[in-house]
Amino acid sequence: MAKILVTGGAGYIGSITRHFLEKHGHSVIVVDNLSRGHREAVPEPILRVLDTRDTDKVEVLLRDEHVEAVIHFAAYIAVGESTQVPEMYFTNNVSGSLSLFEAMLRADVKRLVFSSTAAAYGIPATVPITEDEPYAPINPYGESKVMVEKILEWLDRYREFRSVRLRYFNACGAEPEADLGEEHDPETHLIPLILRAVQTGKPVTVFGDDYATPDGTCIRDYIHVSDLAEAHIYAVEHLLKGGKSNVFNAGTGVGYSVEEVIAAVEHLTGKQVPRVTGPRREGDPPSLVADSRRLQETLGWRPTRSSIERIVSDAWEFARRHSEPRSQS
Ligand code: UDP
Repeated sequence: MAKILVTGGAGYIGSITRHFLEKHGHSVIVVDNLSRGHREAVPEPILRVLDTRDTDKVEVLLRDEHVEAVIHFAAYIAVGESTQVPEMYFTNNVSGSLSLFEAMLRADVKRLVFSSTAAAYGIPATVPITEDEPYAPINPYGESKVMVEKILEWLDRYREFRSVRLRYFNACGAEPEADLGEEHDPETHLIPLILRAVQTGKPVTVFGDDYATPDGTCIRDYIHVSDLAEAHIYAVEHLLKGGKSNVFNAGTGVGYSVEEVIAAVEHLTGKQVPRVTGPRREGDPPSLVADSRRLQETLGWRPTRSSIERIVSDAWEFARRHSEPRSQS
């Protein structure tokens, strides 16, 4: 059992991963500046309100707490926002990461799991996508993650700094046991917006129905957040056992269209999802599905909760319990 520092542990995927780490017997410290995360998502005694750009304080914390590995979630994640204020994304996501790595090197903590993204691939030539596809981000958010991935490749080569980069596909759903789920503000993700449409009667917009897919709407690889959280446990335990650096697609290998997700919500709730069809969203590839064999074969991970029925059902239960968004901090 290890002492693990989780940055961004007040966010959606970070808070659920913290829950699973503790469930697996690890001891966790959360670092979060609460700029986007939720204070209530972290047990108070383990929360340190701190920015990863504060290198000195992070170094002291790593030493004082005898941290053995870090899981690094803290980052801005909104693609649209990243096109409006790219500098904010590079400062927070790249400088924040670099500062953390500097602190880790000083404190001699050289094991890291990094939240990367399928946005590193941009618009892929082929699906399912393997990890060997070249980097081709098409927005500052994706670029900021690629920059950090590249820094990690060099640190592995010259500083014996071992990392697992997980390229997330579409994280969704909620973890009922911990009552943790998705609460972004503003919300831009499909499933919470569909559920909100059912709750409020205000239509969700389907971004394009003229793609070259069977029903004309975009296909994505939706991965239950608890399956994704568990991938981090496998990754950090691999590093703690002395495993090598690697990069893995964190997806299920199965794609669903926007219309199929809507149909699953209608089936679950017995209600029609109010919707309108709008134009395509800029930068949306028609289909993004992971080839996740490397993650499954190397670490032994399996997605066990990522059927679309289970995802929308867990997300719906969470949305019903939290129909008023929580405060930001
Ligand atoms: N989408 C949509 N309407 C919305 C939000 C998303 O039709 O209000 C579509 C979007 O075009 C994409 C899919 O839903 O095909 C998933 O989008 P999301 O923003 O949830 O995640 P992304 O794939 O961009 O990471």
